[in-house]
Amino acid sequence: MALDETTITILGATGSIGTSTLDVLARHPGRFRVRALTGYRNISLLAEQCQLFRPDLAVVADAEAATALRERLGAECDQVGVLYGEEGLEQAAATGADVTVAAIVGAAGLRPALRAVADGGRVLLANKESLVMAGALFMDAVARSGATLLPLDSEHNAVFQCLPGNFCRGRPVDSGVTRVLLTASGGPFRTTPRPELEHVKPEQACAHPNWSMGRKISVDSATLMNKGLEVIEASWLFGIDADHLDVVVHPQSIVHSLVEYVDGTMLAQMSNPDMRTPIAHALGWPERLASGVAPLDLVGLGRLEFQEPDHDRFPCLRLAYRALRAGGSAPAVLNAANEEAVSAFLEERLPFMEIAAVIESTLEHASTGDVSDVQELLAVDGSARQVARDFIRRAGATQ
Ligand code: NAD
Ligand code: MG
Repeated sequence: MALDETTITILGATGSIGTSTLDVLARHPGRFRVRALTGYRNISLLAEQCQLFRPDLAVVADAEAATALRERLGAECDQVGVLYGEEGLEQAAATGADVTVAAIVGAAGLRPALRAVADGGRVLLANKESLVMAGALFMDAVARSGATLLPLDSEHNAVFQCLPGNFCRGRPVDSGVTRVLLTASGGPFRTTPRPELEHVKPEQACAHPNWSMGRKISVDSATLMNKGLEVIEASWLFGIDADHLDVVVHPQSIVHSLVEYVDGTMLAQMSNPDMRTPIAHALGWPERLASGVAPLDLVGLGRLEFQEPDHDRFPCLRLAYRALRAGGSAPAVLNAANEEAVSAFLEERLPFMEIAAVIESTLEHASTGDVSDVQELLAVDGSARQVARDFIRRAGATQ
C-alpha cells in the first residue's frame, strides 16, 4: 500500500450519497484505499462495489443478508470480511479510517456517525438527521475527540466554503458574519396549487426537478422539511441561532447557500446541482479534487431567481424553526414524527398534506425536555414515533 493513500469508510455506500462518493474516488486511483462499505439490504450493489473497491470489511442488515453477500462475493473476493447488524455497523464506523462518510439515511445513522466521531478522524456528514436528533451530544462528541467534521449537505458545504478563515463556531459576529441564507429549490411542488397537493402520489413527490436523491430526502424536499432539517443542522454545525438563519427559494439550484457580512458583502457558492462537488470538496479539503461535475455555463443559464418560501403550502419549514427555538429534544421529536409520516406517505397510508399535521400534533403531545445521553434520546425518539403512529392511524382512517 502506498504511504500517502487516504483510508476511507463509507457508511451507506449503496445509497445516492454513497454511490456518488465512490464515483469521485474512482477518479483518483491510488489516492484512496477503502476500508469498509455498508449496504444494509442492497446486496447486489454492495457486492459489485466490493469487487471494484476491495474493502477489508462489508456490512449488511442481518445474518441472512451476510450469507447472501458472501455467496455473491465467492472465493475471488474472500479477503472482504462480512459482518451484519448494529455490531457490524459499529465495527465499520470504528476502522480508524482517515475519512468516514456518514451517509446512512435517518435515525439509523446516529449511532454509527457518533462512533465515527469518537474515533477522532475526518467525518464527512451527510446524515443530517443525526445532528437534528442529537445536535448537542453530537457536537460535544466532536469537541471531545477532536474529529474534523465536514458537511456534505450541499447547502452546509456551501456555507462552509463561504465562511471566513477566522470563523469561530458560535461567535459569527466576531468574524463579521451577520446572516446565513440557505437556498431551497422549492421541490417538485413549488408551483402546485394547494388543492392539488392533497392528492399527490409518492412517485410525483420523488421526482425532484434538479437533484437525484434517495426517496426519504426527496419527500422531505417536496414538503420543505428538508430545508427545516437543514436549518437545524446549520445551527449546530456553525453555532448560529434561528434568528440569523434564513431560507430563500432558488428554483435553479445553482447557488447552494450564502453568507452575509456586516459590510454588505454576500458570498455565495455556485455549482451544478450534483453532490459530487461537495463530496469532492470535503474529501480533498483543503485541497481541491476533480469531481467529474461539469463547470457552470453562466450564459447558458441566463438568469437565477430568488423567492420567499410559501409557509402556507409548506408548513413543515415553520415547524422546524419552532422545534429549533424550543430546543431540548423538540428537534428529535420533529425528526421522529417526520420519519414516521414520510414512510406512511411513501406506503400510501397518509396523504401528503397530512405529513405536516402529524408532525405538528406529535410536537404538541410528545415530551420535549432536555436529554443528557444517547439512551435517553433514543427513548424520546421511540415514544415520539409511537405518538406519531397513532396520529397517522387516525389520519389514515379518515381518508
Ligand atoms: P439513500 O436512501 O439513497 O441511501 C441510504 C443508505 O443507507 C443506503 O446505503 C442504505 O443501504 C442505508 N440504510 C438504509 N436504512 C438503513 C438502516 N436501517 N441501517 C443501516 N443502513 C441503512 O439515501 P441518500 O439520499 O443517499 O441519503 C443519505 C443521507 O444523506 C440522508 O441522511 C440524507 O438526508 C443525506 N443527504 C442526501 C443528499 C442526496 O443528494 N441524496 C443530499 C444531502 C444530504
Ligand atoms: Mg441539502
